[in-house]
Amino acid sequence: MEARYKSLSLFEFQERFATDNDCYQYLLELKWKEGYTCQKCGNTKYCRGLNDYSRQCTKCNYLESATAGTLFHKCKFSILKAFYIVYFVSTDKKGIASTELSRKLELRQKTCWLFKQKVMKAMESSQAFLMVGKVDVDETYVGQQDEEAIGRNEGKKKLVVVAIEKNGRGVMRMYGRVIPTAAGKHLGSFMKDHISKDADVRTDKWSGYNGLSEYFNNMVQEKSVKKGKNFKEMHRVIMMFKAWLRGVHHSVKYLQAYINEYSYRFNRHLMKEGIFENLMLRMVKSQPHTYKMIIN
Ligand SMILES: [Zn+2]
Repeated sequence: MEARYKSLSLFEFQERFATDNDCYQYLLELKWKEGYTCQKCGNTKYCRGLNDYSRQCTKCNYLESATAGTLFHKCKFSILKAFYIVYFVSTDKKGIASTELSRKLELRQKTCWLFKQKVMKAMESSQAFLMVGKVDVDETYVGQQDEEAIGRNEGKKKLVVVAIEKNGRGVMRMYGRVIPTAAGKHLGSFMKDHISKDADVRTDKWSGYNGLSEYFNNMVQEKSVKKGKNFKEMHRVIMMFKAWLRGVHHSVKYLQAYINEYSYRFNRHLMKEGIFENLMLRMVKSQPHTYKMIIN
């Protein structure tokens, strides 16, 4: 395959992906870059399928396209436009709203929204790289536009637990999860999914965290002083996330997907290289995410 892209410019993208064919070819190479194995019988020999971007097992004749079993599965519009959506979502610093994609690509807004949800699914943390070093954890309510006006705990607000990993240069990574309550089991399962046992975890004195020091060896609970002065990086991260959410998405209906999108981009802010490719690889490795799964 080709050399790693630095941050891929729109011009480079357009040169590289001029037709549907270019996209299928790219997916085919990406999907089987570690070699071909038949999904049905495990055979590793294949011949060309119905077209250049499908492969057929030489033993059981099972036919598989480059998009089958990926997030491009059953894409109802041009694969080239689907690539554009991945490109815009991955390269735009702030992300891009489905209305804007609709205008740029001449697709229905709903079509863009739906496909973007799939891209956001691919942005979900793989949980393969646990946070280490200094990690702060806190919860916050995320709500509609007037969230401050209504008070902290009402109606359309959702509770989110957030973890940030810090080093001398600032906040390196963040993760967040929508949780039903601030009980220890919800906080704990999120923290165990994302934070190393040996990290220097810091939380406030909320009782939900109490039992977790048994799991996290270096955990401390610190009283949160007024206006969160001792958790100021955390407060800044949460504030910026909320500002972004208000600016781009205007709603908390699919909050977890938005948190995934925001965190994905945030966690790569220091490594601009290969974001598009990384996301493409995730699109190809992820199981199909259907409309039904999205709206539930
Ligand atoms: Zn086979």
